[in-house]
Amino acid sequence: MTHQTREQTADIVARLKLCKRLPTLPTVALRLVELANDESASLDEFAEQITFDPALAGKLLRVANSSFYGRRRAVTNLSQAMSLLGLNATIALSLSFSLRASLSQQYRSGFDTNAYWRRTLLTALACRSIAEELDEVQPEDYLLAGLLQDIGILAMDAMFGDPYAALYQQSTDHQHLLVQEAVRFGFTHAQAAAHLLKSWGLPERICQSAWLSHELIKLPHDGPPEDDKLPFYVAAAALIADAWMKEQTAPDSIELTYDSVRTLLNVRLEKYRAIIGAMIQKIPEMEALFDTQLADAQMLQDLEYNARETLAVRSLLRSHAQDPATEALENRITVLEEQTQRDSLTGLYSRNYLDAMLQHEFERATRSNTPLSVAFIDVDRFKAINDTFGHAMGDQVLATVAQRLQAQSRQIDTVARYGGEEFVMLLPETDSEQAEAVLQRMLEHVRDNPFHTQSGAQGTVTFSAGIATHMQGTQFFQNARALLQAADNALYEAKETGRERIAIHQQDATRPAASGSFPPAQ
Ligand code: GH3
Ligand code: MG
Ligand code: MG
Repeated sequence: MTHQTREQTADIVARLKLCKRLPTLPTVALRLVELANDESASLDEFAEQITFDPALAGKLLRVANSSFYGRRRAVTNLSQAMSLLGLNATIALSLSFSLRASLSQQYRSGFDTNAYWRRTLLTALACRSIAEELDEVQPEDYLLAGLLQDIGILAMDAMFGDPYAALYQQSTDHQHLLVQEAVRFGFTHAQAAAHLLKSWGLPERICQSAWLSHELIKLPHDGPPEDDKLPFYVAAAALIADAWMKEQTAPDSIELTYDSVRTLLNVRLEKYRAIIGAMIQKIPEMEALFDTQLADAQMLQDLEYNARETLAVRSLLRSHAQDPATEALENRITVLEEQTQRDSLTGLYSRNYLDAMLQHEFERATRSNTPLSVAFIDVDRFKAINDTFGHAMGDQVLATVAQRLQAQSRQIDTVARYGGEEFVMLLPETDSEQAEAVLQRMLEHVRDNPFHTQSGAQGTVTFSAGIATHMQGTQFFQNARALLQAADNALYEAKETGRERIAIHQQDATRPAASGSFPPAQ
């Protein structure tokens, strides 16, 4: 791999400094990057920044409701969206959206912005699809890395103006462009990108990958190393984007690109096709989110046809979420109110909110004579996860479990963090049997999606749950506290009888209450 010389570095840095028209990061994005670098920053602070930009909040709502996240029900406010997406994805998506919005405004006429953005957004989508198909935990990180990998082109255009725009216009492919840049200007857009991104304060691995991904396409490889896949994924994504751009005039470009992609990703042809299939599926969503046409309708149809014919592709059905931008504004006050009620690690409702909500739901259920189920959830052998993988990983696992619980719940349900590795869920208008089915599904979802550590190890996490249902007749409880206590007793039974299971509180059971104190220690 070639490295830039010290003179080159000095030259790039000096030129970037002198250039007055460099692409800049919008204020909200700048603030988010700052927060991301501050370990003590809370989820609330992120939410607060985002609410300064209602359009951005609207986009996040939209993406939370999109096929990206396979929603069954509407996410109606920013907090819900953030807890569904997770902090990392929220940051990556926020940066992506605000960059797209501000950079297209900053852009000037001499430069072919359409082609630039199409390629960039296709790279971002391809990169996300690769990450998703290869089971990376944070696909939005890859979306962002893909989006930024060619930002150097905007920097080059800002620094050198029309001569650069002309060169960009004439270059036949990306390899050619890189060579020409080095010859004409002394350094490439890949190098410029790394410096620009660094000056924005973005994480080192994102800055690096913008540059390294360009180096990687010069030579064949044997797949990515375990510990540094990002530049390989980005490089492969860029190749796919190039092929996609060519597909219309040269059908089969995408299929033929498999040969080059294979050396970067080390995947089989079926997997490659699945990646393309995932892209096709998300094109409409990407187009709507980034206001750019990415594929000609006819070409999509042909690709889809091919996909149906030859690819193992899932349903191509798409959901068209309504534009929630106005809703985001209306919800702004709700969000600010809610923030104080959220647990900062998981984004779930806090204990205080739960107590109030439980009382409220209990009264409502009693009044309206409808069942109310309460589930007490406790992660199994969580101490062992901390001991094996460390406390930070433990935190991440908790956040993931929380996100899965939230994602699988309905709008009217309340999911809260009770304390430590314990969660409580309120399920209005749900009897024991239905609640058991819901919890069973959640348990499977959590168990069947292992978590991954940065070193590449993976682990499985499960939980046990106890359910109690308040209903007229034999299952009637005197008060909310007794109902919660009963769910906790059932949880105790689930733990006693082997864990990784759901137990239902039986009103007439003669079994003594769980030993130990209530509420459980946090
Ligand atoms: P069981 O199956 O019986 O529930 O076993 P367990 O290990 O999950 O239960 P135990 O209550 O003995 O241990 C819970 C552990 O959870 C102990 C505590 O250090 C850890 N824990 C609680 N809150 C947090 C947190 O916010 N982050 C992390 N990383 N660990 C936490
Ligand atoms: Mg516990
Ligand atoms: Mg536990």
